[in-house]
Amino acid sequence: MSIGILGGGLAGLTVAAHVDGPREVLEKDSRGGGHCQTVQEQGFTFDAGGPHIIFSRDQKMVDYMIGLLDGNVETRRRENKIFFKGRYVKYPFENGLSDLEPQDRYECLHSYLYNDHPKPNNFKEWLYHTFGTGLAEKYLIPYNEKIWNVPAEQMGIEWVEGRVPKPPVEDVIKSAVGVVTEGYTHQLFYQYPRHGGIESIPLGMEKKVPLVTSEFPVERIWKEGARWCVSDGDERVKRYDRLVATIPIHELVHKVEGTPLAVQQAVGRLRYNSLITVTVGLTNDSGLDFTAIYVPDPEIRFHRLSFPKAFSPFNAPDGQWLIQAEITTNEGDGTHEMTDAELMKDVINDLEAMDLIKPSEVCYGKVLRTKYGYVVQESHYKKDLEMAKSHFTSIGIPLCGRVAEFEYINMDVCIGRGQRVAGEIMKPVETLEPVEALA
Ligand SMILES: Cc1cc2nc3c(=O)[nH]c(=O)nc-3n(C[C@H](O)[C@H](O)[C@H](O)COP(=O)(O)OP(=O)(O)OC[C@H]3O[C@@H](n4cnc5c(N)ncnc54)[C@H](O)[C@@H]3O)c2cc1C
Repeated sequence: MSIGILGGGLAGLTVAAHVDGPREVLEKDSRGGGHCQTVQEQGFTFDAGGPHIIFSRDQKMVDYMIGLLDGNVETRRRENKIFFKGRYVKYPFENGLSDLEPQDRYECLHSYLYNDHPKPNNFKEWLYHTFGTGLAEKYLIPYNEKIWNVPAEQMGIEWVEGRVPKPPVEDVIKSAVGVVTEGYTHQLFYQYPRHGGIESIPLGMEKKVPLVTSEFPVERIWKEGARWCVSDGDERVKRYDRLVATIPIHELVHKVEGTPLAVQQAVGRLRYNSLITVTVGLTNDSGLDFTAIYVPDPEIRFHRLSFPKAFSPFNAPDGQWLIQAEITTNEGDGTHEMTDAELMKDVINDLEAMDLIKPSEVCYGKVLRTKYGYVVQESHYKKDLEMAKSHFTSIGIPLCGRVAEFEYINMDVCIGRGQRVAGEIMKPVETLEPVEALA
């Protein structure tokens, strides 16, 4: 049995590494890695699609990812901050209340303790209901509306439980009076490759994969008898007994011949955000030991800054420094239409206004764009996604990974899903389970 795996990101490479027999990964880019690609230029190392750290609630998965690095690993402690009213507040915000002005601290604590917001129907109401007016209005709503680029009331709530933990009441009280507490403890300590950036993870996986055909953009998929045919829209046609798709569902839906209009329309309604990273190299290492800074201020274009040298000291030359800004964007919002030079200037201005850099110290700059950055879960998301997924499962193309399954999942879950789909694909067709049952 031959298996064609569409897409050479982490999910596709994982499937290929965990099936037996003849298999081939088809990747449109000149190399695999997808979201996990890393840029290495002029002595600077940073992740192209935003900062990626190794963490998971499942320690076995952390161990597996570290295993792929073959000793090339740093362990670090998170030092995140939130930039609020000119102050650096400890992250998560609810654990950093003592860094706020007394009035803000009071409003957050009071509305958390005496919270009578009704049962929520959308994400905005969920934030009020879960955190109270102070935390919701000062940080959570403005920050989330920046990263999701959509009013919070348009978003559903199925995805938040478990992903956005409700802090224990004791922690919020302690944080307001200045007793140190930690939130999101599953990412308090994290790993990162010492050399080579996060791309070392897919590269480690790729060592287990016999054949990755790069520069093969999948353009057309159709069936000839029992076999699948995949072409690059040019001369090349590949034939396989089984297929797994890890390419974006928004692309796949137009590549598979005969996809019903209703499925195309359902996928068309699934909303995603694109991501722009603006990375700036500096001749001067400020010595600041922050990992990342979250920026809820709507006047500042980026929502997060990260500092690759905090992940590994080898990410910038001695005495130099690196800052990466992330900007969420969609076509037509004005930011999407800005040139790279305009974005760079804008970010440098804001970094200077935040007192983080002097423009004269900038010695390197790179602007990169990722089309399918974030899954936006609007209220119709679940229904539309289920329809599309069950269609592809029914025709025998299991979907796997963040962009194909169109779920907000990290590397650990992508690897887990890849392993499960690999197990399933080795079974005879008639015993295949729907992919959503494998999560
Ligand atoms: C900003 C950001 C920060 C993140 N931070 C973290 C983090 O800190 N830790 C963590 O664990 N995870 C993080 N993630 C999540 C992680 O990046 C993803 O879960 C994972 O990389 C997704 O892998 P994938 O293979 O599903 O998708 P992708 O990496 O998108 O792979 C899809 C592949 O398909 C290829 N492709 C597309 N179209 C075609 C075509 N027509 N023909 C052939 N090939 C095609 C693409 O080139 C790509 O290589 C983050 C994600 C983002 C966006």
